[in-house]
Amino acid sequence: MNEVVEKVLVSQEEIINRCVELGAQITEDYKKAGEVPYVVGLLKGSVPFLAEIIKHIDLDIQIDFMDVSSYEGTKSVGDIRIDKDLDCSVQGMSILLVEDIVDTGRTLKEVERTLLNKGAKDVKVVSLLDKPDRRVVDIEAEYVGFKIPNEFVIGYGLDYNQKYRNLPYIGVLKREIYE
Ligand code: 5GP
Repeated sequence: MNEVVEKVLVSQEEIINRCVELGAQITEDYKKAGEVPYVVGLLKGSVPFLAEIIKHIDLDIQIDFMDVSSYEGTKSVGDIRIDKDLDCSVQGMSILLVEDIVDTGRTLKEVERTLLNKGAKDVKVVSLLDKPDRRVVDIEAEYVGFKIPNEFVIGYGLDYNQKYRNLPYIGVLKREIYE
């Protein structure tokens, strides 16, 4: 275990098993609806999760990435800046957004609004983690890997000062590292 990690919250095995379940659920739901989602990962945190979950989605999907940042000082739902946009138009498309974690929900709410404004037909969200206690805007991911308590976590895409994204598990960061 990495020395900055207090404890492992979700192991690699648990993540992969959950990706199998979520992938099967997503496949079934989209097949029922007769749709194929355009799978959009939010950089950089979603990368390891996206790489795992797409292996378990049995549909002819395409993947793409967006990089967004919140404007400094934004306290309520505000605008986002798009640092990297999608490769093609989303007009009429069903989007499956892939996130690492839903915390306050502000990022997702804004990305969803932006995609709908650009003409997406439908936006659904799959998130590896969810911290429901921290939510300040009304948004829920349709598919959630694990609900976790309000602790700062790293690994499997999640960083602290851009590091630790490559840990193969979700761990709680030791308080002494950031206090
Ligand atoms: P939201 O807009 O939902 O508040 O923020 C979501 C973003 O905040 C995530 O994509 C992630 O980058 C960051 N975030 C929220 N909670 C954590 C956490 O516990 N650990 C890390 N590393 N990032 C977090």
